Amino acid sequence: VERTAGRLEELGIESPTLVVDRPRAVRNIERMVRRAAKLGVAFRPHFKTHQSRAVGRWFRDCGVTAITVSSVRMARYFAGDGWSDITIAMPVNVRELRAVAELAGDVKLGVLVDSREAVAAIAAVAGARLRVWIKIDTGYGRAGIAWDDEERITSVARAVLSSPRSDLAGILSHNGLTYRERGRDGVLAVHSEAAKRLQAAREIVSCLAEGDCAVSIGDTPAASLVEELPGVDELRPGNFVFCDLTQASIGSCSMEDIAIAVACPVLGVYPERERALLYGGAVHLSLDSLKEGSGGATYGCISLEWPEAASVYAPIVSLSQEHGVAAIPPGGAPAIGHGQLVSVLPVHSCLTCDLHPAYLTLDGERLDTIRGWTDSDGGAG
Ligand code: PLP
Repeated sequence: VERTAGRLEELGIESPTLVVDRPRAVRNIERMVRRAAKLGVAFRPHFKTHQSRAVGRWFRDCGVTAITVSSVRMARYFAGDGWSDITIAMPVNVRELRAVAELAGDVKLGVLVDSREAVAAIAAVAGARLRVWIKIDTGYGRAGIAWDDEERITSVARAVLSSPRSDLAGILSHNGLTYRERGRDGVLAVHSEAAKRLQAAREIVSCLAEGDCAVSIGDTPAASLVEELPGVDELRPGNFVFCDLTQASIGSCSMEDIAIAVACPVLGVYPERERALLYGGAVHLSLDSLKEGSGGATYGCISLEWPEAASVYAPIVSLSQEHGVAAIPPGGAPAIGHGQLVSVLPVHSCLTCDLHPAYLTLDGERLDTIRGWTDSDGGAG
């Protein structure tokens, strides 16, 4: 306990700060690189989790050359740091097509479409050709053409194939349904159903293209747990780099894989009502919560030994803008005291990271992120 508290203390933290255990994040990256190689698929990690050029370089050091992002701005940010093969994995925003076309002159750029209108809008903007993925919905219900809507898949694929500005890259999907599962068997069952559905869509598109059509999938739970990936060409997980309480509860990582925590000062301890108050609220942790069984929502967990160990001391049971309330164990003297710094493991690392302008490694290195970047910074930073 002393060791961790000491390490955080040495960082000179005064207010809620996102701390990264770099060796652990690198271990998570190396593991996923090895998995993709073993599964025989291309690896295109999603960088929306960390949104940091510094962290991106850890991936590059592990041999990664292709990335996924979720906005044009994020694509420009990473392109400025030398990434030259980028997929923007959201259905293309036609209002940004000019910027997309401009960026496509500098890097190999992939975009997603799920309508003929989007394909027509791409064709109407001058600029380099785009690699176009047809977004397929395998049942999650967020974005994409329903996997069994043969008519629409056919009409969009035909539009892409005949467009002067588009090269058909393949079909792409993100199966967020794996997040509703707890345990390997559930994740594998949900994944396998989605994989079957994707093959049906792939056959339609391959037939029209008169050649094989590539298949790209995302999601950390399936990417972490599958033993084989027949019919898949590319893997785009993102969350695995830092992991979080959600992945641990699904069973797609262990608590010891969680590579970030928000260091929060203790503002008050109230043993009589079994609560402690942290300087660390929704603006530092995000409002994402976990609800397991009949218990209430958890917004993060205090771990007194992170990163040496990840045992949970107290869950955060309520959040307001800057306050976090933790339910401390009953009886005896509380293990935390007023003014102490504690590590809070996040429920959803992507959203938690997004709230912090920069991160601090346990060695005290400051990692800049897209939050402090403006386009005029270009390649610097
Ligand atoms: N691809 C797309 C389109 C996504 O939306 C996401 C995450 O939301 C991912 C890949 C990465 O998945 P995960 O966050 O499970 O790692």
